[in-house]
Amino acid sequence: MALDPARPRDFELRRCKRVELGRKLTRQLGQNRQGFIEADESRRSDRSGRAGNDEQQNADIPDVSSKNGSILSNSLCKIPVSSAAVPSLTRRAFLASTIAMTGVSLPGRSAAQSSGTRLILLGTGGGPRPRTASSASAQVIVTNNSAYVIDCGDGVARQLAFAGVPLTALRHIFITHQHSDHTADYGNLIWLAWAAGLSTRVDAWGPPPLEKMTRLFFEMNASDIEARISNEGRVPIVPLVHVHQIRSAGAVMTDENVKVTAALVDHPPVVPAFGYRFDTRDRSIVISGDTAPSDNLVKLARGADVLVHSVMYPPAIDRLVGRVPNAAALKASILAHQPPAEEAGRIAQAAGVRTLVLSHLVPADDPQVTDRMWIEAAQSRFRGTVIVGKDLMEI
Ligand SMILES: [Zn+2]
Repeated sequence: MALDPARPRDFELRRCKRVELGRKLTRQLGQNRQGFIEADESRRSDRSGRAGNDEQQNADIPDVSSKNGSILSNSLCKIPVSSAAVPSLTRRAFLASTIAMTGVSLPGRSAAQSSGTRLILLGTGGGPRPRTASSASAQVIVTNNSAYVIDCGDGVARQLAFAGVPLTALRHIFITHQHSDHTADYGNLIWLAWAAGLSTRVDAWGPPPLEKMTRLFFEMNASDIEARISNEGRVPIVPLVHVHQIRSAGAVMTDENVKVTAALVDHPPVVPAFGYRFDTRDRSIVISGDTAPSDNLVKLARGADVLVHSVMYPPAIDRLVGRVPNAAALKASILAHQPPAEEAGRIAQAAGVRTLVLSHLVPADDPQVTDRMWIEAAQSRFRGTVIVGKDLMEI
């Protein structure tokens, strides 16, 4: 049967396609020396890894977790690992030992997740500079065949395509704050989703000037929009989009799938900046946005299943800003609004969340900053599961 990306009921079928797209993208990202291990194997290893059994403790495995990319990838599909390490090990032993070394649990999919709420990281790099290794900030929560996109960094529409989420499933957009690595493709996401067949309502939520941005975007692109309406028989796009500017913390919206709550977070001088919490039937997910350590965020994330938090690695900031002429100001800005991974760990521990996902990584592409370094920093203050976010990872 041919797949129709415009039909939400094809989600399940699209997953297999997404595997291939994800693998293709991974190869494009220069990780073409990785091998792949079947997901079923990873789930079995996940269970054995959590038990801390002898098999993993006694395994003698080289550290390949970082040099060749993530030890964790989309749990639906494949776990990319160094192909150099695989031949000398059983696949199960390799995964179990990797988990033991890092303390990371593979994000296995429970039955509830399979049929319930899905969180997919679309962009995990911090900052607006386009990179080969990762896209700018964006996440999608999919539940009941509706897509709730949080932040719209560069390339968000294409990342949704890679993730196998039909653009026509777009229902709500949430912007955490007005910075280009979170907003660059806000208008483009709606416009391209409409060009892909979206003909249903979209609600957009976020700080001012979201209304003005939306209005001017449609005005700027009126020529294409009018042509597609008249030539291609599309419905008018402007009436589909309902913008809600948020200026304060509290309840944002509730529908049949999710309750969304916002907290004011600390991102000087960007005011307001929000973190969002999504409570669905089966999961609670918090997206920090960009923030220095924030008590408001701790309260928002209290008892959540998953906290996705922005982080930086301080020893690498000088190398990062050394590439640009505005180094001093950029360094001061980063230090003012991004917490070290240790602090993200402390926040996750204080909030009592189960899983901490490190994302909006600053730097995002420094080979000297390995996954192990991120994980160990966060684990120094947090006893739950730590995951280093990767584009297209499902959690
Ligand atoms: Zn920001």
